Amino acid sequence: MEKVISHFKKLVNINSPSKKEKPMADYLVDRLKELNFQVTVDKGGKNMGDTGNVIGKRDGKGQPLLLCAHMDTVESTENIVIKDEEGRISTDGTTILGADDKAGLVAILEGIKMAGENTRPLEIVFTFGEEAGLNGSKALDISQFKSKNAFVLDSGGDVGTVIVKAPSEIDFAVKIHGKAAHSGVNPEDGVSAIKIAGIAIGNLPMGRIDEETTANIGVLNGGTSTNVVCPLVELKGEVRSHNFSKAEKIHDQYKDVFEVAAKEMGGKIEWISEVVFKNFEVKKDEDIILYLKKKFDALKLDMVLKPRGGGSDANILNNKGIKTVNLGVGMEKGHSKEEYITHQNLINATKLVKTLVEVED
Ligand SMILES: [Zn+2]
Repeated sequence: MEKVISHFKKLVNINSPSKKEKPMADYLVDRLKELNFQVTVDKGGKNMGDTGNVIGKRDGKGQPLLLCAHMDTVESTENIVIKDEEGRISTDGTTILGADDKAGLVAILEGIKMAGENTRPLEIVFTFGEEAGLNGSKALDISQFKSKNAFVLDSGGDVGTVIVKAPSEIDFAVKIHGKAAHSGVNPEDGVSAIKIAGIAIGNLPMGRIDEETTANIGVLNGGTSTNVVCPLVELKGEVRSHNFSKAEKIHDQYKDVFEVAAKEMGGKIEWISEVVFKNFEVKKDEDIILYLKKKFDALKLDMVLKPRGGGSDANILNNKGIKTVNLGVGMEKGHSKEEYITHQNLINATKLVKTLVEVED
């Protein structure tokens, strides 16, 4: 099992921030070839970064299975200094660790290696640009895969954690156009974009809308000087819901309220929005969960089904028609410089992959 730990450290030493994953992609292509996979790199990353998704396929016995982890880290790990103390790996605090998602990558590579050649037919996807907006999985051509089920290895929580539910997210940006005028000389000739924003915000629900829906305006910029009636304000926000039509409804309400407030005051708006990802839910009596339960029991690990507030490649794969859950691999405090992972979770994640890919008797 020392191999798992040393391989993890090797991956952590390959810097692969979003849009600059090529050194990682090259490395993973070589490892998959060593494991007798047919490997391709798709063109999905064109215009986005320096590589596409790395895709590996290998024949086997029984039902095909897709495994997925992402190659990029949320920021650079250049000059990383690793600390490994009392069974816990972290950094010196200068950079993130990048266990998100190098823990997933190593579990897949080492788990398959440990299983040997006697496996189910395997389809592997190492995505680019996950942290930049699930770009790799969004660009992925799903028609090339035979798997009906997939496991994404990209969640915090000890091995045993299974993310079975995640929300939809719609992001929006609005520009409110008013009209500039001197605030002390002729304010009546101006239209205050700040006033329009204030009226709209005052009329909108924000925070928790209901038990499965939230909305937030997180950015507000505008104005240049106290003596100018403000001609332009820009706001950015998001709506999340475990029910997509509720997310759409709140999004539409936001747009309407800004439009009406602008019109009443003599201004106008420009509205841009994007469905970042759609929600999914896997029920606890579905085959994929029953299969996992059997495997966790064999490993003597507790299975804990959980929802998650953010999106992952599992949202995209589910919405493209492959039943997918996101598995905890033990990364903690991801996206921060305190990020860490234990040896035990790296080893358990690897053992889990081994048992997931093995041919059942
Ligand atoms: Zn991740």
